[in-house]
Amino acid sequence: KKTPNQMLIIFGASGDLTSRKLIPAIYNLFKGGHLSKNFCVLGVSRSNMTDEEFRTKAILESPFLQKENSKEDPQTMQAFAEQFHYQDLGSDYDHSYDLLANRIASLNEQHGTSGNYIFYLSTPPSLYEVIAKNLSEAGLSKEKDGFRRLIVEKPFGYDLESAKTLNDALHHYFDEKQVYRIDHYLGKETVQNLLVTRFSNSIFEPLWNRRYIHHVEITNAETVGVEKRGGYYDKSGALRDMFQSHLLQIVSLLVMEPPISSDAEEIRDEKVKALKSLRIMKSEEEIVKNTLRGQYVKTEIDGKTVKGYREEEGVNPESTTETYAAIKFFVDNWRWKGVPFYVRTGKAMPTKVTEAVIHFKTPHHEVFMSQDAYRKDNKLIIRIQPDEGILIKFGVKVPGLGFHVEQANMEFYYSDLESAQVMDAYERLLLDAMQGDTTLYARADEVEAAWRFVDPILKCWENNPAVNTYGYSVGTWGPRNSDELIEDSFGWRNPGDL
Ligand code: NAP
Repeated sequence: KKTPNQMLIIFGASGDLTSRKLIPAIYNLFKGGHLSKNFCVLGVSRSNMTDEEFRTKAILESPFLQKENSKEDPQTMQAFAEQFHYQDLGSDYDHSYDLLANRIASLNEQHGTSGNYIFYLSTPPSLYEVIAKNLSEAGLSKEKDGFRRLIVEKPFGYDLESAKTLNDALHHYFDEKQVYRIDHYLGKETVQNLLVTRFSNSIFEPLWNRRYIHHVEITNAETVGVEKRGGYYDKSGALRDMFQSHLLQIVSLLVMEPPISSDAEEIRDEKVKALKSLRIMKSEEEIVKNTLRGQYVKTEIDGKTVKGYREEEGVNPESTTETYAAIKFFVDNWRWKGVPFYVRTGKAMPTKVTEAVIHFKTPHHEVFMSQDAYRKDNKLIIRIQPDEGILIKFGVKVPGLGFHVEQANMEFYYSDLESAQVMDAYERLLLDAMQGDTTLYARADEVEAAWRFVDPILKCWENNPAVNTYGYSVGTWGPRNSDELIEDSFGWRNPGDL
């Protein structure tokens, strides 16, 4: 089904996210025939550019559209580019909104976009509120003759208080149903598949509880360091940048109760309930015992020196910002009581991977003895990236005399599907926003519930910069002490072992 007629107004149109992710996503939607004929984009930033200059820079000469091996059809590119326009908004995004409103009205006439507008905030977060306020004052936030939606990029807040303040501010100018808080992890096929795996199969859900699950483990690892984002990252850190948003989204999908339908609000209600049931660590003692952080340090690899975090561009040489975080926590509800969850995320690790692993309990009664009891626990491995798929590890008899048990894999990879064309996360999320589907966007209470869990850890870490913080070499699985955190559950799984 094609999207309704509409205009997408991107604030921060001269920025990295717009050229690297948003425009390629819109281009794929355009090529895929998803967009209405009556569609256009208005890019907005401080830079001074004409429509033609914007089209050349963002589309016709964009390295993100003209990839080496894909020769894009020049006519298609030209037709696409003609739907793009540009408006500069002065130095602080605080003026010229009447001018902007007039430009939007005239493009609405020109492209027949039926008064339906989506505003995408892809600027530094400090501008979200001022843009929302100015849009409202220019009469652009009220849904009179068409829909008005506001997509807000991450990070959404810096801690619980700032997230609440931002929610309150946005609610002043837009209704909650108009606000789409983006978390691109929710645009990933395998993250959405968590819901399908759990709730459209009868073989998993009966086991999905404290009676059969020993522990749950989530790993997110990147091989790279902070690259060019040192300045941004140093004010953020692993807990804010990955854990509070993407990883708690995965946790909420693993933990939630079945929704009564696939309706956006029903799913989001259950996710919020799940996040509210995470046991908040109240005392510093509890936080010190259950969390750990680290920073990658200068490392010699094959005779070459690889920079440590503190030597990266834009990073304070005395920075205490964590590039690795590991957290153990419990979920206080009927289903999960007593099951430990272990989540770790880090940069400069041996491999790029995101996976969730459900470790099932070993059988109650051992019939077939094994030297290595742990290898007999069944595992359900959900690979979120890069080799998207699902793997079940189960015991099989080793051929020959006696009953020796070994683990085998049952596996499914997305790449094996005939319709393996997986939409990029931004493509999927933009399409949903254009269709008015909020399922894969975070609601105000959801974001706050996630911050409520993370906030005491952040505060404790900030108050005690030297506690529980360790260096680790580039290309390793983080500080050695992180093994102690998961000792009671036999150690971290090596995601390289499939
Ligand atoms: P960016 O390149 O630094 O800047 C985005 C835009 O904001 C630019 O068009 C810039 O345009 C404008 N801008 C920058 N500083 C400004 C200021 N002080 N006042 C007014 N305008 C300013 O950022 P980005 O990487 O595209 O990211 C945009 C948003 O998406 C951020 O909130 C970021 O956290 C989020 N995000 C980005 C990524 C990513 O991969 N890049 C991933 C996840 C989330 P002019 O200078 O022309 O005005």
